[in-house]
Amino acid sequence: MRSVVEHQAVVAALFDTPRPVRVSLPEALGLASLADVEAPLSLPGFDNSAMDGFAVRAADLADATEATPVTLPVAADIPAGRTDDLTLAPGTAHRIMTGAPMPTGADAVVPVELTDAVVGPVAAAATVTFTAPVEAGRHIRRAGSDIERGTRALPAGTVIGAPQIGLLAALGIADITVARPLRVVVLSTGSELVEPGNPLRHGQIYESNGAMLTAAATESGALGRHVHFVPDDTGDFLSRLGEVADSADLIITSGGVSAGAFEVVKDALSATGSVDFVKVAMQPGMPQGCGHFAGPRGSRVPIITLPGNPVSALVSFEVFIRPALRAAMALPAHRERVSARLGADIRSPRGKRQFLRGVLGEAQPGSGIVVNPIGPPASHHLRYLAEADALIDVPADADGVAAGSQVDVLVLR
Ligand code: AMP
Ligand code: MG
Repeated sequence: MRSVVEHQAVVAALFDTPRPVRVSLPEALGLASLADVEAPLSLPGFDNSAMDGFAVRAADLADATEATPVTLPVAADIPAGRTDDLTLAPGTAHRIMTGAPMPTGADAVVPVELTDAVVGPVAAAATVTFTAPVEAGRHIRRAGSDIERGTRALPAGTVIGAPQIGLLAALGIADITVARPLRVVVLSTGSELVEPGNPLRHGQIYESNGAMLTAAATESGALGRHVHFVPDDTGDFLSRLGEVADSADLIITSGGVSAGAFEVVKDALSATGSVDFVKVAMQPGMPQGCGHFAGPRGSRVPIITLPGNPVSALVSFEVFIRPALRAAMALPAHRERVSARLGADIRSPRGKRQFLRGVLGEAQPGSGIVVNPIGPPASHHLRYLAEADALIDVPADADGVAAGSQVDVLVLR
């Protein structure tokens, strides 16, 4: 039997190194930048007011006190968005709003609340009175104080999220070079499968792996696409693979790879010689396959064939596919590994690395992370999978772990 680590390496080797693609900002969400981004302009682009108030020359207010207030004529009104060049004459004030450009000659802003002016949507009065001096430079957002033109705004390898998109948009950047997101097609097999929304007959089940694995691929940063399942018929299976191969960077199949009599995936792909079917020393997820599928129009697409039991399929995705898929898109590993104290005894088959569903918590605040196993090890228990937020990683050479021991945990969130 192949070890988990060996099979992880085989799966990772199916993928090419990340390739650059230029995408618009919304499309970049969740992808990794592949080049440094330099600021094409400074932020702020011009000195502007940090407050709603009055732009002044600080020297004009030097002697202002409660007892000796200084009253200045209001010579202009500057809302945000005013684009003409204004100059503040000595001995005058300009009413100015947050984000509006500072007039030439002004060196401070006095917030409206510190003056006699009315706060709110009213026309500026003819004069404004100040009862205290203001420090030069006060309440001015200086050009370039956030980022200077020509400096690095984002280093290569940044995962683009909302804040990065905000920065790029503020810099006027409309597209960015990222690692191309991989197109992942998920194809389920099984003559017992029925599309959700249709009635079930005895012996039939709803197809759930397709939707689940597509969601997992999308959540990994890839472009997941779920295609309609095929029955256990090698002709149907191969023709559906042929249809999707040219528009996929990875094909994931579910079902039909174990030791039964109708193993459609194994039967159809063993003959091609370019997919290896192996047993991996793990539970769940022992039967695995991977290799390449030759599309009808010359494409050679990596293919990973997962077992059909839903828990096996998703655990296999977490253990083999997610890390390799993300690395192939220059994305950092998604899942954190932590050490946690086991909340209950567990048994494990010796010789197989076991991934048990668990729920993380803290016994008491500050007592460290505890993981409680939930659900039986059998691989059809979707309900416990949906409840779990961790996989407890039990080494192959252990036949059990006692409560209170430290165990390795893959955090599923
Ligand atoms: P297989 O790997 O095809 O032998 O399937 C193993 C178990 O998983 C069987 O109980 C199947 O009915 C179930 N199964 C296979 N494919 C799916 C699927 N796409 N959705 C839900 N259950 C499935
Ligand atoms: Mg099957």
